[in-house]
Amino acid sequence: ASMIVLSLFGLQDKPVYLDSTKPLEARVEDLLGRMTLEEKVSMLHGDSKFTTAAIPRLGLPRRWMSDGPHGVREDVGPDTWNPAGHTDDFSTFMPVNICLASTWNTQLGFDFGATIGQEAKARGKNIMLAPGVNIMRTPLNGRNFEYLGEDPFLSSRMAVGYIKGEQAQDVSSCVKHFAGNNQEFQRNSINVEMDERTLREIYLPAFKAAVKEGGVLSVMGAYNKFRGQYCCENDYLLNKVLKGDWGFQGLVMSDWAGAHTTDGAVLRGLDLEMGSNGPYNKFYLADPFMDGIKSGKYPMSILDDKVRRNLRVMFVSKVLDSPSKGSLNTGEHQATARKVAEEGIVLLKNEGSILPLDSTKVKSIAVIGENASKKFAAGGGSAGIKAFYEITPLEGLIKRAGNDIDIEYSAGYVQPQFRRQGGANAAGVVQGATDPAVANAERIERAVKLAKACDVAIVFAGLNHGNGFDTEGADRKDMKLPFGQDELIQKVRAANPKTIVVMMSGGPVEMDAWINQVPGVLQIWYPGMEGGNAVARVLFGDVNPSGKLPCTFPHKLEDSPAHALGAYPGKDGTETYTEGLFVGYRWFDDKKIEPLFPFGFGLSYTKFEYTGLKVMPGVNGTAVVQVDLTNSGSRDGSEVVQVYVIPGKEALPRPIQELKGFKKVLLKAHETQTVQISLDATSFSYYDPTRKAWVAEKGDYGIAVGGSSRDIRVASKFRLESDIVIPEG
Ligand code: BGC
Repeated sequence: ASMIVLSLFGLQDKPVYLDSTKPLEARVEDLLGRMTLEEKVSMLHGDSKFTTAAIPRLGLPRRWMSDGPHGVREDVGPDTWNPAGHTDDFSTFMPVNICLASTWNTQLGFDFGATIGQEAKARGKNIMLAPGVNIMRTPLNGRNFEYLGEDPFLSSRMAVGYIKGEQAQDVSSCVKHFAGNNQEFQRNSINVEMDERTLREIYLPAFKAAVKEGGVLSVMGAYNKFRGQYCCENDYLLNKVLKGDWGFQGLVMSDWAGAHTTDGAVLRGLDLEMGSNGPYNKFYLADPFMDGIKSGKYPMSILDDKVRRNLRVMFVSKVLDSPSKGSLNTGEHQATARKVAEEGIVLLKNEGSILPLDSTKVKSIAVIGENASKKFAAGGGSAGIKAFYEITPLEGLIKRAGNDIDIEYSAGYVQPQFRRQGGANAAGVVQGATDPAVANAERIERAVKLAKACDVAIVFAGLNHGNGFDTEGADRKDMKLPFGQDELIQKVRAANPKTIVVMMSGGPVEMDAWINQVPGVLQIWYPGMEGGNAVARVLFGDVNPSGKLPCTFPHKLEDSPAHALGAYPGKDGTETYTEGLFVGYRWFDDKKIEPLFPFGFGLSYTKFEYTGLKVMPGVNGTAVVQVDLTNSGSRDGSEVVQVYVIPGKEALPRPIQELKGFKKVLLKAHETQTVQISLDATSFSYYDPTRKAWVAEKGDYGIAVGGSSRDIRVASKFRLESDIVIPEG
């Protein structure tokens, strides 16, 4: 673009805004100064579903946005959600983001973002609408699969890596949905209420980290209301917290049709309005805003501020310079997709070391379950993509098994069809004709017969992206396995004691009906286009599983806080987060509820020993936690060393323990490594709303180190000698 424009100006007087050697703000001011009122306003709203208008006079190209979290979405038509019918809009299908979170590998977070960023560039996109960092408050949230789990610290670490990797490719990430969009039920209207500490300690940290550490260029407002105001026009969230406290300099865009009034959009922090009902010049930040400027209702400074923010994002992502070209579906992208899947797979149960399968002994495997042969890339709403390919578990197993092992398949259950339909993301997936409540007795019979005849049975169970499961626009109705799968699993297990369940879902499902009978269980989420290879490699032990749950798996829905307290799904249009800080493991710990599987949990084919814990104090409330980690088994493997901080008696009530550090460490068989994990004053602090500050009170803190929140292996104390107060921001 710059070459063309340069010829407009002549080479001698290259304008400052086209000179990449000039400081960012100088370029922004220079360009802003050249823009007409109409041009300025045109930058603040869509001119199609996913673009803003070009300004050819100044050489500004159209800006392209695209979902999303697992790859670059298929192109839709300019004014419709229907596919554009392009033949060049495929993308690498990465594992879902909850699978990424399960890796607890921050480098993989970076690689994941970098992969999507490179593909975004190759597909001509400037702003990628991800990652989503809404906290898993209820297992039922239809979009849990797109998010990073229940813990603010883990979500923060993974989001920062993702954003840095993506933005390093000259693409803007857009962290979403800011804030309190923790359920899909009534997402367009529900008013979320929570106390200030809960907001700052649980729901905002990942956004704050995205802004302050990740340097995220764009933020998307959520659909819901927060404290009575729509999030896309929320003075407190956008003006006070994001732009005020955190000093965010980039742009805030609306979720698609998330803006509701001109005053709200203009005055309460929105910089780019997308997806409202057209015509595009009728968007609140289009003609209505321009009219308000002309009439003097709104000051020019408000318009200029919004334009500056849009321009900054353009400049930083090099839209006017020479951005990187990007690449699609490279060997490296495929390898990253596979690595994330491999490291995100969580081994939940492995009684009698039923896994890994011994390929010298196992001669036949009954693969059971529709999920073994289903493709998931296109599903889930806005997170769906058109994958270059997708290796199903069945395909992966057939390939890995080679000629010596017989792989037999039986569906075992039928899922109602899910298909895409025109219309908004929210309604993009519909349920087919089959009644999911009716277990298919004959299919179960066939599967049982097959299980009996084979050495091992593997049931690929779980959910899908159909309406009411892992999808946008609706929540799950309950936490149960649908389609008669509980019965199927029990019967298969009765037929073959060597039964392994491989669970595919975006969050927890109830397993009590069979968990005690089945010796092997893997949680594989939706593992992306290399998922079939990844799961085969884990099952056969080519890869030692190292994923850890980024969320608590409850025995039953009523165990989890929002349901135990009857807070979900809200009352009269408002949902009050009465559980406060006690989300996920914070609740289960506090109430002493035994979860099915705790936060941070995941087994390995080897064993790890923790010894020699030292907590070494530094200055200003910093500390280094040091522990010797030994792989005491005979297989190489990775462990996620997790550090939980246990506060003493304090002025305000606090969760019993909170994750404040972790490191994923690869150890050869019998190897020992000394692992160091840094803490700082914020690791000990709580948010004090009256002081508007993070307060680490002097006193003793417990430091608990282990392989999950309920598998603490070594513990020590840390003494903070004086109070430390860090103002928010
Ligand atoms: C979703 C967003 C998405 C947008 C554009 C909305 O319905 O909530 O996450 O980025 O659509 O597709």
